[in-house]
Amino acid sequence: MALLEVDHVYKTYKDGTRSLTVLNDVSFTINKGEFVCIVGPSGSGKSTLLRMIAGLDRPSQGEIRYRGQPINGVTDRIAVVFQSFGLFPWLTVKENVALGLEAKGIPRPEREKIASKYIDKVGLDGFEEAYPRELSRGMKQRVGIARALAMDPELLCMDEPFSALDAFTAQNLREEVLDLWLDVTLPVKSVLMVTHGIEEAVFMADRVIVLSKRPAHVLADVKIELPRPRNMRDQAFSTVVDKIYSLLF
Ligand code: ADP
Repeated sequence: MALLEVDHVYKTYKDGTRSLTVLNDVSFTINKGEFVCIVGPSGSGKSTLLRMIAGLDRPSQGEIRYRGQPINGVTDRIAVVFQSFGLFPWLTVKENVALGLEAKGIPRPEREKIASKYIDKVGLDGFEEAYPRELSRGMKQRVGIARALAMDPELLCMDEPFSALDAFTAQNLREEVLDLWLDVTLPVKSVLMVTHGIEEAVFMADRVIVLSKRPAHVLADVKIELPRPRNMRDQAFSTVVDKIYSLLF
């Protein structure tokens, strides 16, 4: 069943007399249960696409549907994790995680319960009262993930979530995000992750959607059939990575 349908989407930014077409007829679907990565060159419109899916921007042409309904704004079924963490420095970990819950009208005791549950899920128990400045980058991104999960989303969108992290932290978090996606006690059904890392995409995804350079269109939609857990040093892994590289370069 298609959870998300991106249907012939175009996006042109207009700035006075200049215009920049970023997306040029992009179509794909994401089914329930899938982990999908979008890869493409820098500036190809990946973040733009994610922002439109999250309801933060609109296509110039075409339509994006969630469970068959056009997306016309932010919905709590879709949550986003940003590369830059997006934490409020004056709020504690718990307050950052609970932020969206207040907007949903959930009373304080319930908010705190939900926030604590997801702080535990991402391995940050004991840091509820810490402030972002006291946390490492990896821990900050865990807070970002907990905040997204606390919104109870079915579709979790991630925009280059590991690119500001060192290699070890990034790999740990990749594995943990896969565990969270497979955790049947969580509402998350599908994950859509934008990355410029082809290895990262092949490590994580069921499908990799390859975008061309700007104005972007879909060059390929590659099913990754490697068994999990995947090993980046396997020959079969390298073969799939090479195939995607050859589409882009
Ligand atoms: P990617 O995530 O693939 O690197 P982006 O979606 O961030 O690409 O950006 C694609 C292009 O669109 C870039 O050239 C960027 O400068 C431009 N762009 C992004 N957002 C805006 C905006 N709000 N107004 C004008 N141009 C924008």
